[in-house]
Amino acid sequence: MTKNDIIRIIKHVFEKNPKASIIVDEIKSLAKEISGTVKIMNFCGTHEWTISHYGLRTLMPENVELIAGPGCPVCITPGYYVDLLIELSMNGYTIHTYGDAYKLPGTRIKGIRSLYEAHAMGGKVNVVYSFLDAVKHALRDKSGKHVFFAVGFETTIPTTAYPLLAGSVPDNMFILHAYRLTPPVMRYLLENRPDIRLDGVIAPGHVSSIIGANAWSFLPRDYGVPVVVSGFEPIDVLLSIKYILEMRIKDKPSLINEYTRVVKPEGNIQAKKAIEKVYEARTAYWRAIGYIPDSGAYPRREYRDKDLVSVLGIEEKPGSREHLPGCRCPDVVLGAAKPTDCPLFLKRCTPENPYGPCMVSSEGTCRIWAENIPFLNLD
Ligand code: SF4
Repeated sequence: MTKNDIIRIIKHVFEKNPKASIIVDEIKSLAKEISGTVKIMNFCGTHEWTISHYGLRTLMPENVELIAGPGCPVCITPGYYVDLLIELSMNGYTIHTYGDAYKLPGTRIKGIRSLYEAHAMGGKVNVVYSFLDAVKHALRDKSGKHVFFAVGFETTIPTTAYPLLAGSVPDNMFILHAYRLTPPVMRYLLENRPDIRLDGVIAPGHVSSIIGANAWSFLPRDYGVPVVVSGFEPIDVLLSIKYILEMRIKDKPSLINEYTRVVKPEGNIQAKKAIEKVYEARTAYWRAIGYIPDSGAYPRREYRDKDLVSVLGIEEKPGSREHLPGCRCPDVVLGAAKPTDCPLFLKRCTPENPYGPCMVSSEGTCRIWAENIPFLNLD
């Protein structure tokens, strides 16, 4: 793809919505009022896709930097979960996984490294679109033992919370809960990584539809960081950037909900109640980042008969290779490095043959950059 092709596609975005070019001009003139670089983190992988795919970085003034954040659940899912599921898949259990986590590497140096490889070696692995798909399989195979690999943030937690509440999970189905919660990782980042100075945050739209826009009010209140809950169209993201610059100039950090067509201030109250009834927040391990307080959603005592880790009596602990040698994922996930800072990017690590976890899922920053390389204007 040539540079002209890129310009043509970006122009197409503008033609579809001429308001976008007005907002870009406003961003440029606001940026002139700010001395120094403004670093804006987009939390969510889907926002990263919008920014990368529509070439929004190429439209930014020099002093506005857009950096990707930790909003890819597969990227931070511990490899020791994968190791355990590989083992079970070779020993009679059927593992049901979202396609996103199918190629997620475990922590092994030799042997089978992912559920994809386990499947190829005869392991029982089934890719599903939803928990209900997995339940249907378990109901059809009453004599088999089934495990659902529950990877995700707050958006996906209701998919297991409701069936657990209703008592409709079959006897032969267990859940490996790898759920992680998003506000705690932002607190962790702001408190533990002063090197990643943030001037604004574009908060995740999907997650906020569950937890509510107000869940992000701690960012301006406790850390003085402006935050905008944003939709996923290019114009949503551009507007969010503009709002952050305006708040910076006025030195009035606050919370703005740009995605009011989907996100309510209080979120989805019913879903939040279901999550609260079934799960409790506990300290959890984020792959190669470490333990983050209150960042994991684990089942409460009365639902642990369906929790794989509780049923097997396993103690969760990181594997020796949660951090894969040479992989910059822990920095990429926290916005401290770009995929192109990794020497393995598009060499040893590609979307077809991912080496590190950020190259596996369509929400992973490395994968998004790899698939949108022409639009990044990297030269
Ligand atoms: S390119 Fe691959 S190896 Fe490098 S940081 Fe990204 S996922 Fe890790």
